[in-house]
Amino acid sequence: MRILFLDLKAQYRAIRPEIDEALGRVLASGWYILGRELEEFEREFASYCGVRHAVGVGSGTAAIQLALSAAGIGPGDGVVTVANVSAPTVAAICLAGATPLFADIDGRSGNLDPERLSAVLQRDTGRQIKAVVVVHLYGNPANLERILALARESGIKVIEDCCQAHGALFRGTKVGSFGEAGCFSFYPTKNIGAYGDAGMVVTNDDGIAERVRMLRNYGEKEKYLNTERGINSRLDEIQAAILKVKLAYCDRWNETRRKLADLYSEQLAGCGLKLPLPDENGSRQVYHLYVVRAKDREYLRARLQEKGIATAVHYPRPIHFQPAYSDLGYAPGDLPETEAACREVLSLPLYPELEPQAVLRVCEAIREIV
Ligand SMILES: *Cc1c(COP(=O)(O)O)cnc(C)c1O
Repeated sequence: MRILFLDLKAQYRAIRPEIDEALGRVLASGWYILGRELEEFEREFASYCGVRHAVGVGSGTAAIQLALSAAGIGPGDGVVTVANVSAPTVAAICLAGATPLFADIDGRSGNLDPERLSAVLQRDTGRQIKAVVVVHLYGNPANLERILALARESGIKVIEDCCQAHGALFRGTKVGSFGEAGCFSFYPTKNIGAYGDAGMVVTNDDGIAERVRMLRNYGEKEKYLNTERGINSRLDEIQAAILKVKLAYCDRWNETRRKLADLYSEQLAGCGLKLPLPDENGSRQVYHLYVVRAKDREYLRARLQEKGIATAVHYPRPIHFQPAYSDLGYAPGDLPETEAACREVLSLPLYPELEPQAVLRVCEAIREIV
């Protein structure tokens, strides 16, 4: 029996009657964009995150772009983030018209290293840097306390990239509620996923919420009155109805992910791989991915493949090695922890429908190989 890396069909089978009902309701309503389904989902998602506002947009990328724009970040501004991600975080900074700068990660957590951020801010003598986009990678909250303190000291804004961290807690509080805004993606593979593209900006700032609402809809303040130069990036009624169904399962699914992750960590202890860090100080990771580090990743991956076990790499190529971003002024060796992580990370199968038995089989296979 092959073990899949992810099985989205299994999730649909498990909740099919509710999803089909939601789809039928929207299709029959005759109203498909900016309606009741979205308003309800926005209210429920804001409440889930413990914030005043949630504004649905077309994707996680658009959420970051519009949150930056709404926070007043644009051309001429520098925005610090990490490079051990896939393109959207950095693409969104560029779409907002700003210039990305990279700070290295903490090799143990894979998240932005506050000390590296501090160094980047100190070098910024021209005071070009106006914001930091903090990624909670793999569903593991970054050190927001230290990052927020540094941001306050230097007067820059904090945007949280929560695209992998729906429901995660930093020291007891939901991520997305710490910075100026939190940005979520509902890409199908995320902890709660649409059947298409969708995203959300959450914020406690009334002004940012209002501006994102305008920017997502051509910059309209009211019908045919444009007070901003906006774009078209809305979370449609069909996806909102689907996501309302899935939000009710989010905590249960996250709990199952955490149990499976604990099983992995228990079974893989002492086998020579670097494992994800355990939770600390009231934080709660939601394991969007279960990522180990192996010195000889390609060998391990190939041998697991032979045994019918699918794995993935998030992410093999840091952004400063990507051709599209070669003009940002970074060279190999500039971000050593980031570069080492990209060589060694390996994501093991993990999703709520995965049987614990399958986790045991993956662990047994890994122990045999290493
Ligand atoms: C998925 C993801 C995004 C982008 O989301 P889209 O909805 O695909 O635009 C951004 N940042 C991170 C860390 C992600 O995992």
